[in-house]
Amino acid sequence: MTASRKRPSRPSGRDADPRRTIPLNSHRWQRLRAAVLAREPLCRDCKHVATDVDHDDGNPGNNRPENLVPRCHSCHSTKTMREQHGSPYGCDVNGWPTDPRSHWNEKSLEGDAARPPPGPFLQRNGRG
Ligand SMILES: [Zn+2]
Repeated sequence: MTASRKRPSRPSGRDADPRRTIPLNSHRWQRLRAAVLAREPLCRDCKHVATDVDHDDGNPGNNRPENLVPRCHSCHSTKTMREQHGSPYGCDVNGWPTDPRSHWNEKSLEGDAARPPPGPFLQRNGRG
């Protein structure tokens, strides 16, 4: 009686990048991803277990083997954030901002000994 109104399926999220040639939910990408993680199971950046396969040059259409790099989700997110916003987001394990342009990361004239204590929540042990 009524025509079924199907929304045309448009790519969304990361699949919306027109340069992407293999949709992330496709069987082809799943196989490619599995092959990369089998070849190199650790994150290229931090050596933890890799969960993501990243297009290293930022171009999701470049699926050449040397451009498909295993990364953990954290390193992948940090890299993507840097590519999209020009600076890495957040702090490292010591509470330091990961953005090298942060004033917390400016070189002090007195050297590292004069660095302020890290972050608002973390303090160095002892008096250094
Ligand atoms: Zn990592």
